[in-house]
Amino acid sequence: MESGRTNSNPQLRRGLCYSNVERKPSVIVIGGGMAGMAAARALHDASFGVVVLESRDRIGGRVYTDYSFGFPIDLGASWLHGVCKENPLARLIGRLGLPLYRTSEDNSVLYDHDLESYALFDMEGNQVPPELVTKVGEVFESILEETDKIRQEYAEDMSILRAFTIVFDRRPELRMEGLAHNVLQWYLCRMEGWFSGDADTISLKCWDQEELLPGGHGLMVRGYIPVINTLAKGLDIRLGHRVTKIVRRYNGVKVTVENGSTFVADAAVVSVPLGVLKSKTIKFEPKLPEWKETAIAELGVGIENKIVLHFEKVFWPNVEFLGVVSETSYGCSYFLNLHKATGHSVLVYMPAGQLAKDIEKMSDEAAANFAYTQLKRILPNASAPIQHLVSRWGTDVNSLGSYSYDTVGKPHDLYDRLRIPVDNLFFAGEATSANYPGSVHGAFSTGLMAAEDCRMRVLERYGELDLFQPVMGEESLVSVPLLISRL
Ligand SMILES: Cc1cc2nc3c(=O)[nH]c(=O)nc-3n(C[C@H](O)[C@H](O)[C@H](O)COP(=O)(O)OP(=O)(O)OC[C@H]3O[C@@H](n4cnc5c(N)ncnc54)[C@H](O)[C@@H]3O)c2cc1C
Repeated sequence: MESGRTNSNPQLRRGLCYSNVERKPSVIVIGGGMAGMAAARALHDASFGVVVLESRDRIGGRVYTDYSFGFPIDLGASWLHGVCKENPLARLIGRLGLPLYRTSEDNSVLYDHDLESYALFDMEGNQVPPELVTKVGEVFESILEETDKIRQEYAEDMSILRAFTIVFDRRPELRMEGLAHNVLQWYLCRMEGWFSGDADTISLKCWDQEELLPGGHGLMVRGYIPVINTLAKGLDIRLGHRVTKIVRRYNGVKVTVENGSTFVADAAVVSVPLGVLKSKTIKFEPKLPEWKETAIAELGVGIENKIVLHFEKVFWPNVEFLGVVSETSYGCSYFLNLHKATGHSVLVYMPAGQLAKDIEKMSDEAAANFAYTQLKRILPNASAPIQHLVSRWGTDVNSLGSYSYDTVGKPHDLYDRLRIPVDNLFFAGEATSANYPGSVHGAFSTGLMAAEDCRMRVLERYGELDLFQPVMGEESLVSVPLLISRL
């Protein structure tokens, strides 16, 4: 499939003039994250010749399990959102026997967590009474219900933050003061983490349009990467291949990578992150249609990061998470206690939105120190971490953002528009999933959808539908229950 380093058109024409019977159809998958791997696996299993071009020196993309501490730590995704058999990833995870640690049931008010096991503190290190946290949680839910009425009344979209202000004007009894106000800000901070964006940018009209699967949220105790590795087995994956140009013609595609090498195939699946598409570092020839370019420009992408602190031994309370409340959501903190789920003495500080952006400007040491300082506010005798890891999903040229979300004034169907194929280019990735945006299972399902669309289109051209297996093979019918624990 690799066609060398020249860009001459005759070569492209030669490369693309295939006879139906001489060879199997071919596809180039651009990006080796969850979506790309799902598409590549499915097309490979459907008898396509598949090459995966991946810019990094590793596969997985925003699924990234680091082993430098001697045990797995996920610096990207770590939860399976929706621990249920309807989750598109459940079969694979179940089959691999990967254990999950459930941090919430269905009715979680905090998305990743319910309030069964936590400790919130104020800036002076005093623990917030659990009854207050629960009460403010109920107020938070009431405010969200009120914002729904505002959504019905106003034709124009607005931000979640603006809607909160209107609710407080109308229902002053929902306005909180003092410590209760700070706890409310903490809830808002967690909501911002879910979207990876600040509350003044999240769309009131669309924020709840995604489908939340039942079963709560389960941490992948042994890390997410085994799922990617399983999908990748036996595939032709070219690491360090950063795609810079995609040419499409009626009979095929030609893809150029940074070092000038070119690859030709019948079709391509484009699964690079939305941030990369926005940066226009990949040139499309001919240009993508305007509706596609608009969708790329308008869909939001935010930042959430992880600062992982490894301690010699555990000195914090035996709860699932620790939090610091503050007057603004920007000042609040959240630490996931991995010791609960994995037994390792690790806390994961997770900033999002503007705070995450600001922290990315710091060195790794300064970022780790920042997280440690937050921890010392609540546990003044906290010992210093012995190791740390810092993610930088916002500035990493291979991601340029953590995950997509609906911003103010933009329609939710942007996800669909991102997914719709353009000729023989098929698009996949979390930002193309209207149902499950910003998630691993969303990325996975769009990979399968792109593969199926690609298969159908190529087969239409070949006209021999019997030749190839459907992308969802028989194996997918076998269901293995998930291994779920809660310590
Ligand atoms: C900190 C963080 C926490 C998260 N937590 C969760 C969670 O708990 N649960 C959950 O479900 N989701 C979570 N997510 C979101 C989830 O990780 C993503 O939605 C999902 O992994 C995206 O998969 P993808 O295949 O769409 O994109 P990616 O995984 O980003 O894959 C795209 C691939 O394209 C490659 N690429 C980029 N540019 C080029 C180029 N020019 N040429 C070739 N290759 C290129 C990239 O290197 C990458 O490998 C989290 C994300 C982050 C950042």
